Amino acid sequence: MAFKSCLDFKAQFTLILSKDSSQKEILYMKDVIIVGGGLTGGVLACALAEQGLDIIVVDQTEQKLPLLSDGRSFALSRSSFNLLSKLGIWQALHEVTPIRSIHTSDGVLPHWVDYHEEEVGGGPLGYVVDSALLKSKILEKVRSYKNIELHAPTSFVRFGKTPTSAFIETDHKEFLQAPLCIAADGKFSALRKEVNIPLFKWNYDQIAIVCNMAHSLSHDNWAFEHFLPTGPLAFVPRPGNESGLVWSVEKKKAEVYLSLPEDDFTKEVQTLFGESLGTFTLSSQRWHYPLNACLPKRLIDDRLALVGDAAHAFHPVAGQGLNVGLRGVAVLAEILGDAFCLGLDLGSQTVLTSYQKRRRLDILSMIALTDGMVRIFSNESRLLAHARSLGFGLVKHCTPLRHRMIRHAMGIAG
Ligand SMILES: Cc1cc2nc3c(=O)[nH]c(=O)nc-3n(C[C@H](O)[C@H](O)[C@H](O)COP(=O)(O)OP(=O)(O)OC[C@H]3O[C@@H](n4cnc5c(N)ncnc54)[C@H](O)[C@@H]3O)c2cc1C
Repeated sequence: MAFKSCLDFKAQFTLILSKDSSQKEILYMKDVIIVGGGLTGGVLACALAEQGLDIIVVDQTEQKLPLLSDGRSFALSRSSFNLLSKLGIWQALHEVTPIRSIHTSDGVLPHWVDYHEEEVGGGPLGYVVDSALLKSKILEKVRSYKNIELHAPTSFVRFGKTPTSAFIETDHKEFLQAPLCIAADGKFSALRKEVNIPLFKWNYDQIAIVCNMAHSLSHDNWAFEHFLPTGPLAFVPRPGNESGLVWSVEKKKAEVYLSLPEDDFTKEVQTLFGESLGTFTLSSQRWHYPLNACLPKRLIDDRLALVGDAAHAFHPVAGQGLNVGLRGVAVLAEILGDAFCLGLDLGSQTVLTSYQKRRRLDILSMIALTDGMVRIFSNESRLLAHARSLGFGLVKHCTPLRHRMIRHAMGIAG
């Protein structure tokens, strides 16, 4: 873009934002600006850079290695494995635990369903990766590209647009310009809020308690999901005799559990879960996450696209938030890569609408599934217990249905 027109944009942007002209201003021009360099923003930056686009990533947190754990052990689907492998990120993850079987059970009724990798073929049902490890390897990959510029710690402050460009002002008084800006700034996305995209959001009045537990028996690569009336309790296998716990509990009870001494906390988990993994010992600190869901009315706006948790936030009952986010990244990267090769305007309505169309169904079905699971299982109603009993029976004995469910969770259906 000619320098003169760049200055024109700068002037327009200055007008849009009513800026004080005495302030120091720097203008960066790229193909795409990504606000939020977390998991989905980082992977998207790599996928676009790989196709030759010039990217600028802005993240409010200091992106300094080694990154500290946030306690989560992510269950990643085969579709996430495919994307991360294609970018060479997977190959750098030295500690990944395959999930070969999943046991789901009702906490009240004597019903359960097991899923095994042999039912689908082609490898494990999923993989478990520590959040700090995954984030670190994504960050290392982001830093390896010459065509990605990472600004951190830098916060998004304001968004502006003209008919041909999007602009971002940062808290360092930088002005960034590109044909397209992407909001990957998480479920409380400030960028989404700034452009006033209507949002459906609701609270579950639950908190997820997250920690690691060592156990006396081997997990044999089993993951467990125990649907208790107070909320789901799930274990995913980690290296050695350790599993990652995500225990969603009513807010008031969670506060009590979090304040219990380690031994008492462990006893509570042991009583609720039973002896399938032998005797438990708490092997990490306890983290907690308030649980809510949100669904923006649109995934796009003028010269803007939402991705990751900015585009959808689910209850972690099915461990799918990041998986769905990475599927969005794959679709967006493909659409933008093609548009870039053809010399099309990356922020045009045609390009953005095609992204929105291709993502809607996956997102809507996942929000319906996760929300439905929470409401049907975290409940003591006798009527719903009857429905659960029917559901378990149906999934257990109807092989095509069970296979369809596994393939959907693995991200390889549709
Ligand atoms: C307890 C729990 C367990 C989970 N387990 C799983 C699982 O097993 N499998 C799975 O697939 N998903 C799981 N999820 C969901 C998963 O954690 C999220 O979907 C995923 O972290 C979303 O990544 P993201 O990059 O879109 O957003 P985030 O991880 O929230 O990243 C947003 C980034 O934007 C930056 N940012 C925010 N605001 C600004 C700003 N104003 N300016 C600049 N930068 C900004 C932040 O610093 C951050 O780096 C779980 C969630 C929870 C709560």
